[in-house]
Amino acid sequence: MATPGSFTIHTLGCKLNYAESSTLSRQLREAGWHQSTMHDMADVCIINTCSVTEFADKKCRQAVRRFKRNNPAAKVIVTGCYAQLKPTEISNMEGVDLVLGAAEKFNLLQHLENLQLGMPVDQIIRGPIKHHEQFFASYSTNDRTRAFLKVQDGCDYKCSFCTIPQARGKSRSASIEHVLIQAQELIAMGIKEIVLTGVNIGDFGLDSESGHRKFKFIDLLRELDNLDIPRIRISSIEPNLCTDEIISFVAGSKRFMPHFHMPLQSGSNEMLKRMRRRYPVELYHDRVELIKKLMPHACIGVDVIVGFHGESNTHFDETRAFLHDIEASYFHVFTYSERSNTHAEKMDGVVPMELRKLRNRVLRNLSDKKRHYFYNQHIKSTRPVLFEQNVQTSHGGKFAQGFTDNYIKVNCSTKLDLQNEIHSVRLTKINKEDIAMGRLIEQPVSHLN
Ligand code: SF4
Repeated sequence: MATPGSFTIHTLGCKLNYAESSTLSRQLREAGWHQSTMHDMADVCIINTCSVTEFADKKCRQAVRRFKRNNPAAKVIVTGCYAQLKPTEISNMEGVDLVLGAAEKFNLLQHLENLQLGMPVDQIIRGPIKHHEQFFASYSTNDRTRAFLKVQDGCDYKCSFCTIPQARGKSRSASIEHVLIQAQELIAMGIKEIVLTGVNIGDFGLDSESGHRKFKFIDLLRELDNLDIPRIRISSIEPNLCTDEIISFVAGSKRFMPHFHMPLQSGSNEMLKRMRRRYPVELYHDRVELIKKLMPHACIGVDVIVGFHGESNTHFDETRAFLHDIEASYFHVFTYSERSNTHAEKMDGVVPMELRKLRNRVLRNLSDKKRHYFYNQHIKSTRPVLFEQNVQTSHGGKFAQGFTDNYIKVNCSTKLDLQNEIHSVRLTKINKEDIAMGRLIEQPVSHLN
C-alpha cells in the first residue's frame, strides 16, 4: 500500500463538478491523504474539467502549467467531462501524468495509489461513455451554509449544440432513500440550504441499473419536504419537465424556495427546432405565467444562447422581445461556440463571432435591467435572509451578506456574526453594485411554523 501524500483539487465548470470534487476530496482525506490548502504545494494535483466552458482546453492547460511551474516533481491527473471527450488532446499537454474518463473518476484513490507506488499506468484510462451506467452520489460541503446535492446525472436528450450526453452518459439517478440519507448527513453538519443538482434533474427517477423509471421528480420533492431543513432550492430544470404539479407544489411548500431556473436557449420557435429543444416558446411562457400567478415574488432565471447556427437578426429580435416581455429576473447569456461531434457541427448559417458577442452584450444589458427591476419590486418589503458570510470593508466597516428566499443578494450592516443564520430583513434600497441593502429585524425566522 502506498503512503498517502498530499493533494489539491482544481475544479472547472458547474455545480455538479463542485459536488463531485468535494466528494472526491472527502474520499481521499478519509484514506489518509492530506488536502493542501496551498494549491501549488501538493504531491498530486487533480483537475476536474468541464466541456461546456468555452476554452476548456485553455483553462485546463493553464491550470497544469501553473501547478507544474511551482511544483515540477508533482503529478497531475486530469478528469471530468473534457477528459472523457478529448483524452488524447489532454494527454498531449506537457505535464499531464494521467487522464481519467467519466467512469474512472470515482476510482481516483486506486489510481493515485498506483501512481504513488510508481506502478506502470496507462496515461489514459477511459472507457466508452455508453458503458458508463453507474450513479456516483456526491455533495459539496465546502460552504458552511449551502450544499449542492447531486441527485441525477447524464442526459437522454439530444440538443444539437450539446456534448454533455457524450461526456456524462445516459440519464440515471440516485434512489430517493439514498438522497434522503445524504440530505440528513448535510443537515447533521449544520447546512441550512440544499441545492438539488443534476444534468437534467427534471428527469430524476431513472434507475441506473435497469434504465426504467422508478420515480418522478415530484416524488423526490415530496419526500424532501418532510426533512427538518429551512431551505431547499432546485438548481435548474428543463421547462418541459417543470410541470404544473411541481410549480404548485413549490408554491405550497415552506422549504422549497420560490426560485426557478429554466433554460430557454432561444425565444424563436424556429431556432428551438434547430437546437432540438423539446418545447415551443409558448410552453415556456405558460410556465413563467403560472409561477408568477402562484408566487408573484418568485425569482426566475433564464439560460439563453446567442449566435447559434442559423440565428438571423429576426430570430435574435424574437428572443430579445420574448425576454423583454416575460417576467424573468435575470439571464445567463452564453455565446454559442462550436463543439465537435455535435449535430450542430454540420449545420449551415454560421454567425460571425463579432455578431455573437454583440448579441451577448445586448442580452446582458437587458438582464441587468431585469434584475434591477426585480430587486426594486422588493424594496420596502421584509424577507428571510440566510447569511452566508461576514465581510469587512476597506474602511473598517462590517456587513453580513446573504440571499433572500427569492434569491436577492442582500448586504446588512451589522457587527453581529450572522453566518449560517436566517433572519427577517427589511430591504431598504439597491446600492451601486446592484446589491440590495437590508435592515435587520431582530427576531430569528422560524422556518417550521
Ligand atoms: S437537456 Fe439538452 S442541453 Fe441539457 S444536458 Fe441534455 S442535451 Fe445537453
